[in-house]
Amino acid sequence: MALIVEKFGGSSLANTEKLRNAAGIAASDYRKENQVVVVVSAQGDATDHLIAQAEAIGRRVSPREMDVLLSTGEQASMALMAMMLTGMGVPAVSLCGWQAGIHTDAQHGVARIDRIDTRRIRAELDQNRVVVVAGFQGIAPSGDITTIGRGGSDTTAVALAAALEADVCRIYTDVDGVYSADPRVIKNAVRHYEIDYDEMLELASQGAQVLHNRSVEMAKRFGVQLEVKSSFINGVGTRVREVVMEKRSVSGVARDQNVALITIEGLRDQPGNIWRLFSALTEQKINVDIILQPPAAGQRTSITFSVPRESLDHAVEMLTGSQSGLSYESVSVDDRVCKISIVGAGMASDYGVASRMFEALYRAGVNVRCVTTSEIKISVIVSEEDSDRGFIAVHDAFF
Ligand code: ASP
Ligand code: MG
Repeated sequence: MALIVEKFGGSSLANTEKLRNAAGIAASDYRKENQVVVVVSAQGDATDHLIAQAEAIGRRVSPREMDVLLSTGEQASMALMAMMLTGMGVPAVSLCGWQAGIHTDAQHGVARIDRIDTRRIRAELDQNRVVVVAGFQGIAPSGDITTIGRGGSDTTAVALAAALEADVCRIYTDVDGVYSADPRVIKNAVRHYEIDYDEMLELASQGAQVLHNRSVEMAKRFGVQLEVKSSFINGVGTRVREVVMEKRSVSGVARDQNVALITIEGLRDQPGNIWRLFSALTEQKINVDIILQPPAAGQRTSITFSVPRESLDHAVEMLTGSQSGLSYESVSVDDRVCKISIVGAGMASDYGVASRMFEALYRAGVNVRCVTTSEIKISVIVSEEDSDRGFIAVHDAFF
C-alpha cells in the first residue's frame, strides 16, 4: 500500500467527460489498495472567468474578497470530483483548504503555506476514503481564505505530499511530461524521462508552464518524489529527482511572455541611488528580474530592468510619484518583449553554450535586448515580434 497524492490541472477537469477520466485514474489507484489524496484545480479557465468578473467591477478590488471569489473555482471542482468518485463506487470526501488544515500567511493572492495540520486528512484516509482537496487555497491566521498564486495547485499537492510523507506526488496535466520546450509551440520538442530539481526549478521559473516553480522548490527541499504525467495518455511521464546521471548541457528552452521592460534615464550617478530605486520597488512588492546598467556617461546613468507585466502600471505609478526623491530625468516602458531562456545543469562545465544561443538568434535575425546568466541558465530579452522565431531558433540549436 502506498500513499499517493495526485493533482489534476484545470485542463484535465474541463468538462464532465474529463472529470470522469481523472476520477477513473484516482479510482484505479484506490482499488489497488493505495491511499489516495486528490488535489484539484478549478475547471478549465474558471479562474480566468472569475478574475474577469471581478475586474468588471473595478480595478482595485479588495484582495480579501478576491480570494473568497477565486477559491470557489477549486471548491466547485472538488465537490464534482468527490461526486464522480462516489458515483464510481469509491468512497470520497472533499475538503477546502481550511478543512484540510492548510495554514498560510496573510498575503492574499500570493500566500505562502506555513504548515499543514494533516489530522483531518489522515482521519479520512483511515476511514478508507479518497480525500479530494481544493488546490491553490488555504487559511490565514485571521481565519480568512487565502490563495497562493496562479498555478498554485501544484504547490498544494507537493506540500500535502511532504506533510503526509507520501510515496509519490503525481501531477496530471495535458502534456505527457516535461519537454525540452513547450510541445504545444515547439513541434520537435523532446520529452525527458527524468530531470533534476534544479533544472526543473529554473525551467519553471523562466516561464515553462508545466509546473509551478514553488512546487519544485518545495519538492526539492522535502525530497518529494515528483512525477509529471498526462491524464489522457497512459505512460511513464517525467520524474523530477535529485540527481540525473548524465548532465545535459541544455535540457530545456523556456519562454516567458509575461515580461515588461522599464528604463530610467538620467539617474544621478552616485552611491545609493540604485539601492533607493530597488528598495522602493521591493517595498511595493514588485518583483524585478533582469537588471541592466550600462557604464555611466558623465554625471548621469540609465538603468533598464524587467518586471512582470501585471506589475508594470504599479511600478510606473510608484516611479513617477518619487521622481524627485530618486533623482532621475525620465522613465519609459516597453511591454512588447519576451524572455527566452536556456537551462541545463551541465552548462557550467560546457564551453560555448552562450555563443551557440547567440549565433542561433543572430541567424534568425533576432536582436538581443538584454542578457542575464546564472550557473545553469542564460536568458535573453527580445522583442515580441521576434518571439516565435527566436524561440524556435534557440530550440533548434540545441535539440
Ligand atoms: N486555478 C488556479 C489558477 O488557474 C490554480 C491552479 O490552477 O493551479 O491559477
Ligand atoms: Mg498549472
